Amino acid sequence: GNTAVTVIGLGEMGRALAGALITAGHPTTVWNRSAAKADELVAHGALRAATVEEAVLASPLTLVCLLDYGASDAVLRPAAGALRGRTLVNLTNGTPAQAREAEAWATGHGASYLDGGIMAVPSTVASSQAFVLYSGQKRHFDAHEETLKALGAAKYLGADAGIAALYDLALLSAMSVMFDGFFHSVAMATSHTESSAAGFTELLVPWLTNMAQVMPAFAADVDSDAEPVLGQGLDVVLASVRNMAQASRDAGVRADYFEQSAAALEKQLAEGLSTYTAPDAVRRLRASD
Ligand code: NDP
Repeated sequence: GNTAVTVIGLGEMGRALAGALITAGHPTTVWNRSAAKADELVAHGALRAATVEEAVLASPLTLVCLLDYGASDAVLRPAAGALRGRTLVNLTNGTPAQAREAEAWATGHGASYLDGGIMAVPSTVASSQAFVLYSGQKRHFDAHEETLKALGAAKYLGADAGIAALYDLALLSAMSVMFDGFFHSVAMATSHTESSAAGFTELLVPWLTNMAQVMPAFAADVDSDAEPVLGQGLDVVLASVRNMAQASRDAGVRADYFEQSAAALEKQLAEGLSTYTAPDAVRRLRASD
């Protein structure tokens, strides 16, 4: 039969996770601090636990999805004694260090631990778009992979419990800078009286989609010790970054990002670098100054 699963935390995401497990036919037990958030799930067949301890004891596998690790520590601590021999998967967004601490705490109480990062929004959980990153001991992942697939494609990253959180936050950082770039470009474009955000975005989406295709080649250069395959004159790149900064200022749009970027490129040029490459771009970000 289908593995029984407990879901602790029924916010937007936790309710989506529990709903996906119910749909996939798993006996699902739920708990949330504000109990009313369980009502709709219970109407769809979930079992309501009165306490966290009761929730953990109901299933061999417990998923946790709360605001942050402070909340998950506070919620789980009183139920520590119930964890022995069970598997805890923490899908709460947190840092790699928090994930490693959570693993040490859980294994100290006799639990098997996996950390996870959900790469989906509540409405896409369990859809073909959704994927979830996992890290921790491989045998724990193997034991529950079939069940975890109900949430979205399950991607195991490695034995270090922190790597799922690292990749999750790295993916979110790319998304966040991309949206900031989008908003910057919209602020520039719509400073012109004859433009609309919608009309501009019709050009932006295919442009960014095309540029994203370059990333695997950039990544290969970062991984390789050989001379980078992709390169552009650093002076040419610097000139265009300075133009982006100036045109932004002329349009009444903040240019801080491009001014900082120009300063970093000027420094590399002064150090004798003449080509813009992916490994140098990564190095520029690593530099402590
Ligand atoms: P919500 O704000 O909808 O839910 C937050 C949950 O945390 C609720 O269950 C809330 O309980 C609980 N909570 C907060 N503080 C405490 C506390 N001190 N003690 C007990 N429970 C507490 O957030 P989401 O469901 O959207 O997010 C949950 C996690 O999922 C986050 O880590 C988020 O980063 C991650 N995530 C969310 C995505 C999204 O698009 N929403 C996408 C990917 C990941 P109560 O109901 O009682 O307030």
